[in-house]
Amino acid sequence: MSRYWSSVVHRLTPYVPGEQPQLLDLIKLNTNENPYGPSPKVLEILRREAADTLRLYPDPNAERLKEAIAAHHGLKPSEIFVGNGSDEILAHTYQALLRHPKPLLFPDITYSFYPVYCRLYEVDYEQVPLTESLQIRVEDYKRANGGILFPNPNAPTGRLLPLAAVEALLRSNQDSVVVIDEAYVDFGGESAVPLISRFANLLVIHTFSKSRSLAGLRVGFAVGDAQLIEALERVKNSFNSYPLDRFAIAGAVAAIEDHAYFEETRQKIMRTRTILAKRLEELGFEVLPSVANFVFVRHPRRDAAELSSQLRERSIIVRHFALPRIEQFLRITVGTDAQCDALVAALQRILQ
Ligand SMILES: *Cc1c(COP(=O)(O)O)cnc(C)c1O
Repeated sequence: MSRYWSSVVHRLTPYVPGEQPQLLDLIKLNTNENPYGPSPKVLEILRREAADTLRLYPDPNAERLKEAIAAHHGLKPSEIFVGNGSDEILAHTYQALLRHPKPLLFPDITYSFYPVYCRLYEVDYEQVPLTESLQIRVEDYKRANGGILFPNPNAPTGRLLPLAAVEALLRSNQDSVVVIDEAYVDFGGESAVPLISRFANLLVIHTFSKSRSLAGLRVGFAVGDAQLIEALERVKNSFNSYPLDRFAIAGAVAAIEDHAYFEETRQKIMRTRTILAKRLEELGFEVLPSVANFVFVRHPRRDAAELSSQLRERSIIVRHFALPRIEQFLRITVGTDAQCDALVAALQRILQ
């Protein structure tokens, strides 16, 4: 603390990201990165991008990337916003579309960055409790609000809200913006992107960090009605003209164009998830049904924090949240088959 700090800084409670260990021999199942590397075509483009042209600023509007994303989703570039990771897009969304007198609504158990942005942007919020089985119930969102925000599938539960329920929520909430954070939708979810043509208040946010194996490149995008996108552009152009560097633009274009690699890796992860869930159940864990690249599990007789540190002693890191209602759960990223074998073997020894 310092007397030089602004009053906003005094009020902040910064987000604490999952550990990024410097030791590379750890089995890292704690931050939902993709266990498979980026497409070889992305790596080739990035090598080519390391050239004299780096002395020039990148395209401030990343037009090539917007066009590639628009083509992929059958939309217009004016319906696409791109940013330095979806976290940055979320931040601009708060500033552009969610800062209203009425409270922002989001689930009580969800991505823990959401309340952090509320403090940064001084947005009043209400946390809507998930049901007993940790599901979103859309009727609970029928109340005065200045916006609604949730991930689908939700994090860290991995549970999906079916598209019909999303549509019902949109129909009963036309006066404020509904933001759906689809960070994990490519692992078996149903995207709300096709609904943007019918709901001018829907913004859907995607990231290249999970299903495109590019967490290190920092690229995300939002899709929505051109007027919502314009609001985001106004904030972005009042903050940083060049959020995406030359590598990010070129790499993300190559990633979205390599459909075969994307299909192959996401299918592998979904297959491994099914096997992992079954083996964890055989070890006595309760496994929530997941359509994400992680599973959310608890053991009826073992303390989650203790299990997490016992795994850590065996060089395996998973995520434990010391938060109400979920302190007995572990969130485990779906790794390669070999990483999941190692996890199951370690748990077998720990539970013996
Ligand atoms: C990982 C994640 C993000 C952030 O993604 P980046 O694009 O890497 O910033 C956003 N929302 C949820 C729910 C996530 O899990």
